[in-house]
Amino acid sequence: MADRQADSVAVAKTALDYITTRMEKARRRFGAPPQAVQLVAVSKTFSADAIAPFLAAGQRVFGENRVQEAKEKWPVLRAQYPDIELHLIGPLQTNKAREAVALFDVIETVDREKLAAVLSEEMARAGRRLPCFVQVNIGGEEQKAGIGVGEAVAFVARCRQVHGLDVVGLMCIPPDGQPAGPYFAHLAQLGRQAQVAQLSMGMSGDFETAIAMGASSVRVGSALFGKR
Ligand SMILES: *Cc1c(COP(=O)(O)O)cnc(C)c1O
Repeated sequence: MADRQADSVAVAKTALDYITTRMEKARRRFGAPPQAVQLVAVSKTFSADAIAPFLAAGQRVFGENRVQEAKEKWPVLRAQYPDIELHLIGPLQTNKAREAVALFDVIETVDREKLAAVLSEEMARAGRRLPCFVQVNIGGEEQKAGIGVGEAVAFVARCRQVHGLDVVGLMCIPPDGQPAGPYFAHLAQLGRQAQVAQLSMGMSGDFETAIAMGASSVRVGSALFGKR
């Protein structure tokens, strides 16, 4: 049992080292600014048992896309590792905002006025002012969440001024099956206009491109945990 546990930690460590080495190489190759890029390990669909070796290997920042699933997995893990930083990276319904504010440390998916207002209320109630990202529907896709490209800059300003949210960055998921680079570049441009310091962009298939375009954090799931 102890051996098996040691093995799974070694496997997790190898996966983390492989991804962080590629991140660092991409950062150097493209002459990105000197600050390190944050790795958000996307653990959705994986059990607490599958996540534990990654915690033991030193990873602390994780992403989940569903409130209910996070509620089932993370309180136990957090009891063991109080310094975990958990990001919500999936769409948030306003009726789950209270739970989300209690469970997560960063909300990456603020994408509409009503949600901004409810999050603001719930954060005040809980006495937790969480860093937020505004999600931008960078490809203008009907089926995808996110504020429209043309509204993004004004929406960031409203989130800050009207709702008092601590908007630290922009987040996007580019369209499938197209080169992601131009979409990442567009998000970076919007980020400069909106005066946010951070960009959450890039997943298993394209995180190096995202780093080239100025990502400050990448959200990597399957390349770390395996196929879902
Ligand atoms: C699932 C998911 C990821 C990770 O995707 P992989 O391709 O497995 O790396 C990143 N961001 C969001 C919003 C996701 O839902």
